[in-house]
Amino acid sequence: MNNFSYTTATTAKEATGVRKDSAQAAFIAGGTTLLDLMKLNVEQHPQLVDINMLPFKGISETADGLRIGALERMSDVGENQLVVQQYPAISEALLLSASPQLRNMASIGGNLMQRTRCTYFRDTAFPCNKRNPGSGCPAQTGDNRGLAILGGSSACIATNPGDMAVALVALDAVVTLENSKGKQRRVPLLDFHLLPGTTPQRETILEADELIVAVTVPAAAHARKSHYVKVRDRASYAFALVSAAVGLDVQGGQIQSARIAMGSVGTKPWRALEAEKLLVGKPATEASFRAAAAVAVRGAAPREHNRFKVEMAQKTIVRALQEITA
Ligand SMILES: Cc1cc2nc3c(=O)[nH]c(=O)nc-3n(C[C@H](O)[C@H](O)[C@H](O)COP(=O)(O)OP(=O)(O)OC[C@H]3O[C@@H](n4cnc5c(N)ncnc54)[C@H](O)[C@@H]3O)c2cc1C
Ligand code: SF4
Repeated sequence: MNNFSYTTATTAKEATGVRKDSAQAAFIAGGTTLLDLMKLNVEQHPQLVDINMLPFKGISETADGLRIGALERMSDVGENQLVVQQYPAISEALLLSASPQLRNMASIGGNLMQRTRCTYFRDTAFPCNKRNPGSGCPAQTGDNRGLAILGGSSACIATNPGDMAVALVALDAVVTLENSKGKQRRVPLLDFHLLPGTTPQRETILEADELIVAVTVPAAAHARKSHYVKVRDRASYAFALVSAAVGLDVQGGQIQSARIAMGSVGTKPWRALEAEKLLVGKPATEASFRAAAAVAVRGAAPREHNRFKVEMAQKTIVRALQEITA
């Protein structure tokens, strides 16, 4: 690990100003991703700016729906009664993430910025286009069991490994960003993470001098009846092999609105918009769910070791939809 300086910012302007002057500096919130990657020498930052003193806190109901400050901790959001009752998929996704200790440290903003768990990315002995652009992607023909079947390119097939982002994308979340001029912009979370294309090193639309301030999620019937299912190699403290966040509004047995997103199958949290459309107006039955799940994985391009994800993703969606309509 390289030497670095450490300062605490008390205003957003102070924090973003540091990054404007030096894109090599990094914000630190809980440090659970950043310090790991610095210790592995995957990231090198001469300067860390602690943002924990910034006023990006609070979990509240606003005219826009649920508002979560970027510096709220995963555990506090996961256990918050407003979230548990009105947005259960978000609570479930958070409480199925990492471990209690990590959730106590880790922030919502940091969670959205977490990086892939691709083993080649995390081991500097290997080439990796994401870590070292132009060096190659050994995962294409190497160990790709945990990697993406949707949204990949010849440059990178790394999955976004997060849980919460899958639930947020399903429920139409919007992120509020603020830059060094104090200007804020609001971006649908669906557009926040980028596909790898030929530039896998660029993972989000966040500019160097921008901070995530908050996330808002619209209130909706399908948000109140939402659910997150995570399938993994062991029952706790493991990243998803496949996950699904779903939401349904069913009236008189007929689906009025549907939301479906998948985790750990795409190179970004993967919203299945066509599958959702297919469900609207249909009866809430297993046959409808299966048809939608088949559409959700249309266009999948699995590699040698992750072909199982095509079927597993469909089964996970069907299971999630069945569990909320049971
Ligand atoms: C062993 C282990 C297991 C895990 N398991 C899971 C899991 O099962 N599911 C899951 O979803 N996650 C999992 N995680 C990831 C964990 O959720 C993230 O590490 C955590 O959410 C990151 O939050 P943080 O506050 O610690 O971020 P930090 O490490 O402080 O920051 C991470 C990145 O985000 C940037 N950043 C932080 N806050 C902001 C902000 N407000 N604006 C802009 N940039 C910001 C930092 O500059 C840095 O680049 C696991 C992590 C570990 C170490
Ligand atoms: S999949 Fe992406 S992160 Fe993994 S080795 Fe290839 S370029 Fe690197």
